[in-house]
Amino acid sequence: MASPYEALDLTPDATVADVRAAFRRVALANHPDKLPPGTPADAVAACAARLDAAVLAARLLSDPLRRAAFDARAVQLEVRTEGRVSDTVAFADFSLAGNAAEAANAAEYEYECRCGGAYVVVGRPASTVHAECDTCSLVIAVMP
Ligand SMILES: [Zn+2]
Repeated sequence: MASPYEALDLTPDATVADVRAAFRRVALANHPDKLPPGTPADAVAACAARLDAAVLAARLLSDPLRRAAFDARAVQLEVRTEGRVSDTVAFADFSLAGNAAEAANAAEYEYECRCGGAYVVVGRPASTVHAECDTCSLVIAVMP
């Protein structure tokens, strides 16, 4: 399986905003509803697989603690960076962002940061995830 960076065609120094932009680009190019009529079934399946990989990659790379752990391949780092979490927010307090017509599992949800920036979660989380503000570097825990 491709690394999350490869799935989104990003380099490891990509910012949160880069991850969001890359995810939108891949989602738009591979969404089954956006393919021309008559696209062969194997091409549709390949696009669906790329979209699924992009959703997982965006979730991982948008979660600063999981991303740090992935980058370092070290659980210790994840524990240490847990101290960066400044607040806990219920997913119910997030609102749907941008184009609501996108597939449900690929939709972006936003929550406004006190700095005026936004925390973004891709898809409805199944367990607690972390989100980093796209403007300052605050991190919150998001409860499903
Ligand atoms: Zn902020």
